[in-house]
Amino acid sequence: MGRILDRRAFVQRLAGVGGGVTLAGAMPTPLAAQRGGAPTGGRTLPARTEFVIRNAYVLTMDRGIGDVADGDVHVRNGAIVAVAKNLSAAGATAIDGRGTIVLPGFVDTHWHMWTTFLRSMAGDRAEDGYFPVTTRYGQAMNPEDMYRSTRLAAAEAIYSGTTTVNDECHNVRSYEHAVADMDALRELGIRARWSFGAYRGLAAGQPRDMGIFRRLHDEWARHAADGLMTLGLTAGGAGTPSEPLPAERLELARREFSVARELGLPISTHLSAKENTPPGWVQASEAAGFLGPDVLLIHVLSASPAEMRILSRTGTHVSVSPGSELRIGYGLTKATAFTDAGVNVGVSVDTTPLTGNCHMFGILKLLRNAENAKAFDEFKLSARRALEMGTIDGARALGLDDRVGSLTPGKRADLIMVTTNTLNMGVFTDPAHLLVEAAEPSNVDTVVIDGRILKRGGHMVACSPAQIIAGAEAARHQVARRLTASTSQ
Ligand SMILES: [Zn+2]
Repeated sequence: MGRILDRRAFVQRLAGVGGGVTLAGAMPTPLAAQRGGAPTGGRTLPARTEFVIRNAYVLTMDRGIGDVADGDVHVRNGAIVAVAKNLSAAGATAIDGRGTIVLPGFVDTHWHMWTTFLRSMAGDRAEDGYFPVTTRYGQAMNPEDMYRSTRLAAAEAIYSGTTTVNDECHNVRSYEHAVADMDALRELGIRARWSFGAYRGLAAGQPRDMGIFRRLHDEWARHAADGLMTLGLTAGGAGTPSEPLPAERLELARREFSVARELGLPISTHLSAKENTPPGWVQASEAAGFLGPDVLLIHVLSASPAEMRILSRTGTHVSVSPGSELRIGYGLTKATAFTDAGVNVGVSVDTTPLTGNCHMFGILKLLRNAENAKAFDEFKLSARRALEMGTIDGARALGLDDRVGSLTPGKRADLIMVTTNTLNMGVFTDPAHLLVEAAEPSNVDTVVIDGRILKRGGHMVACSPAQIIAGAEAARHQVARRLTASTSQ
């Protein structure tokens, strides 16, 4: 009985969100009701208001517009109305942008968000490495655990200035696991591609239930959150991170690709991660029909120059994750080798058990420094190109560049304000260099997603960080207890 009342109260609160989530899009699942109807600390997403940021240094990341020093950004109904100096915006609330850099929110292109409550848990011995740890915990996770871990990830993303994620959910143990994971994203108000993956412990070569994927597609209006959420598939490809696929598994991957393409949905694939493995998997992927502008390949560190040309010719995108690639020993991240060959490259978090935190400032710094080190060249990758990879190129990789990735009038209002009046950012010099070299998440003063202000004055507006952290911590302890109980039996 209590649950029914809680659920009703929850729906009523969501229905009261001004101009925001549609009732259908926000309808809680039974799981949400089990969470006591207050999954974001009893608060709801703020309304989309009309505002104008004034006198900021605006990095539009739109090459046609360029930077606007002492510029204004006008936002209305969740969209960017105009970017210029001295805008007239009668009726709009003014936000003082002096001492800040305004730029598009960062776009992550590959992140297993469900692993976040295992932050920094990939240990120092083989049995405690990333894959054993995530497999051990992943197998014992229920939908509520998925929700709490991904909610922590989404909150950290927003706090750190990432406004779009590609949540590669590769622990879909049931339909309920999938929905709970998506609930977390929708409730926090982040923009996301949600990519349907396999699950920890699934034996190699075993098919997964693609019926769940079809069901999610058929009912997507329930999950779409006014277009903030899109659906994709993370599929097996022509190889695992360490070896090419035998014929029967290649056939399985082919069937998965064909389902996504039948439904018109984008696909991402982890491929040939280690730099020191022989090339050949991109060629194998082309032969299998696994390339194209609807495909995002992750890591691909073993790609040869000839294979990079194949990716360019087919319009296939690449996601690089410097934090995890360096940490796990896949090799030195490759980005400029791909872009020099004409391939679009986005940047990604991958997984916090390995990378610790998720902020794009540090990831871009790592990326740029690795590129320059490899090339013995101070000028190989400019800070501005790195920022493009973290914004507009990432949006292109996810097929979202018509909506986000640059501060272009008509696009959705996903932007961040980074304050420069702090000890680690002062004095104001080159804004692109400052962002890649000096900035930290704590410098992100304001975060706007789809016109909603979700961080302001350095504080989260629509969620309780303390509750989110406590929820994730409790869930991790419960999973650990379940594991202990099962091994002691
Ligand atoms: Zn990954």
